Amino acid sequence: MSKKRRGKKKLTAAQKRAKRERRENTQIIFLNGKQKRVPREKRIEGLPEYEYLARTADPVWLMENGYYELLYQREQMENPRDDLPASNPAPVQPPSSPAFRLESIQELTRRLMRAAVGPGDRVLDGTVGNGHDTFFLAHCVGPRGKVVGFDVQLDALAETEGLLNLQGLSEQVSLVHDSHEWLGLWLDTHWPGQKLAGAMFNLGYRPRGDHAIMTRPQSTLAALEQVINYLRPGGLLTVALYTGHEGGAEEAAAVLDFMRGLPPNLGQVVWHQFLNRENPPSLVAFCKK
Ligand code: SAM
Repeated sequence: MSKKRRGKKKLTAAQKRAKRERRENTQIIFLNGKQKRVPREKRIEGLPEYEYLARTADPVWLMENGYYELLYQREQMENPRDDLPASNPAPVQPPSSPAFRLESIQELTRRLMRAAVGPGDRVLDGTVGNGHDTFFLAHCVGPRGKVVGFDVQLDALAETEGLLNLQGLSEQVSLVHDSHEWLGLWLDTHWPGQKLAGAMFNLGYRPRGDHAIMTRPQSTLAALEQVINYLRPGGLLTVALYTGHEGGAEEAAAVLDFMRGLPPNLGQVVWHQFLNRENPPSLVAFCKK
């Protein structure tokens, strides 16, 4: 009996439409040597969606929608730091990129902080600057929590205050126009007997501000020595260190010396740094026992 050659099955109109939509909305990529169909990267005006948002979206909208990394990358594009290699600017990465990559110092800091801090906690931002970390902390602690942020630049605080107001977050945040070396005095006066779940310090200068105003080893160390006493057990201190600007390497070395010298029975200390970059920023974190 001769085998009848089976003709291609005719698709219905609905099946054809579904096939076309699948082709339009997905793409094939190679992952670990295998073909995988993944959602097609959305593009707006020729740019990948995330790059488009990083370049154009309103900063308040980015914050409200939790795109902290995009906000940071936008700032990097507009005001590249001297200590990041200009030839290799940080690429704009969609948060759920299928290709694995090691997280940035900022991302790691936030992941650790999110794990240590929860709704209703009290936390401290030692260097408010453009307010990204203050916003992040305000979101972590929620409306029942409290954030105190220090900065010596009034315009940085005023800008941050304006954005906090816009988002209805100002109730839970106190901004202090003073050096962080006085944080103990502030905490004893305003939050007597209260412990901190987390404290963030992002050293150096404010990217969108006066680059001559920067953190200095003496006041930084005074602040770090104090803040450790206010952390609760399990409380987390993170310090982002930059070495590309004048005085940055000395400050980073002083902080690392201090952190290395902390007795192990007081807490754990880790240091995280990309090794194959020029002047890489690094993160040193302390978790209180
Ligand atoms: N965390 C900030 C953010 O999310 O945008 C970035 C901070 S920026 C790298 C460093 C900030 O530290 C600057 O705004 C600078 O004015 C501030 N600063 C410098 N010396 C300080 C001090 N002694 N006390 C408090 N803030 C200080």
